[in-house]
Amino acid sequence: MTTRDDLLCVEVVSTRSSSRGPLCLQPAMRIHSPYTRVLADVPCGGLQVQLVLHVRKFFCDTVGCPRKIFTERLPIFVQPWARMTTRFSQVLQALAEASCGELGARLAGRLGIRTSPTTLLRLVMARPSAPPEHVSSLGIDDFSFRRRRTFGTILVDVDRHQVIDLLPERSVKSAADWMQSHPEIRYVSRDRGNDYAQATRDGAPQARAVADRFHVYKNLVEAIEAARARCYKESSPNLPKPIEPQLPFVKEWRPVRDPAHEQQHAARLAANQEHFESRMALQKLGIPQQEIARRLGVTVRTIQNWNRRGSCPGNKRRRKRRSLAGSLCRLCSHQMEARLQKRFSPVSRDQREGLSWNR
Ligand SMILES: [Zn+2]
Repeated sequence: MTTRDDLLCVEVVSTRSSSRGPLCLQPAMRIHSPYTRVLADVPCGGLQVQLVLHVRKFFCDTVGCPRKIFTERLPIFVQPWARMTTRFSQVLQALAEASCGELGARLAGRLGIRTSPTTLLRLVMARPSAPPEHVSSLGIDDFSFRRRRTFGTILVDVDRHQVIDLLPERSVKSAADWMQSHPEIRYVSRDRGNDYAQATRDGAPQARAVADRFHVYKNLVEAIEAARARCYKESSPNLPKPIEPQLPFVKEWRPVRDPAHEQQHAARLAANQEHFESRMALQKLGIPQQEIARRLGVTVRTIQNWNRRGSCPGNKRRRKRRSLAGSLCRLCSHQMEARLQKRFSPVSRDQREGLSWNR
């Protein structure tokens, strides 16, 4: 036994004279070679404990046994290939189950145990879940292992609100087989499809199939919709159909111009005209283009453009190339605004009822 910082290192030697083979379970005594395993164990006196476990490899002499050489097993003390003792693993599992990964790791640190949230979660996930013993009310539905690609079947204990099994496929046979092994099922809650109805008939004929809550609501909503439509038709046979506004084509549609924007445009045109006339006057005096550009606060390129055109620029409105998506968005918002105005404008009671029935 040695200590190093906060680590207590203990060397443990197995002294048994024989060991049972893992496959044939027959005792073997012929030693092949020594073998050493390093294991983490429960802390002691605030120190981490490391066990250096000296075991042996044995020859299996049983005739016909496929495992000729095997490592000595200590099943209660440590699992094959485990890096920690079984008792230490159980402590960590208890910590994780009582809290969660992150919290369990922090609590473990206070108790002198060095571990990580991932390790705690892995230990919890590795625990074999007990098979369901008594399922009175079974919920069954599709389950997606990979979204929209791989589907299976999920089975839920409706009374305990717990998932009890996942079947690798969604077939009538697999579901019926599962139900056959549970004759205690009294109710099967399922969707409206035919597969699970057939599976219930085949696998649990004693059970009563009921629609699950989602589909009960769905049935109810559909029944109400149908009844409402029928009532409306009977109560108002001569009500004129509301006139749908004619939708313009997206490419042709233009938004209504903003008055403030129009004003800005007119002011810009007037300024351009003024610049143009000043340029003509200065040019008549024989002033070079650079000087005219400097005095008017424009570029030489602008002066050259004016000369080429021979008229005041800006009379023609520049039209930006509009994207189809942009036009569509503006059109939709325009339509929505018009509809809202129509919807909330004062209308008579008859009109209002007519509108509400059609929404
Ligand atoms: Zn053997």
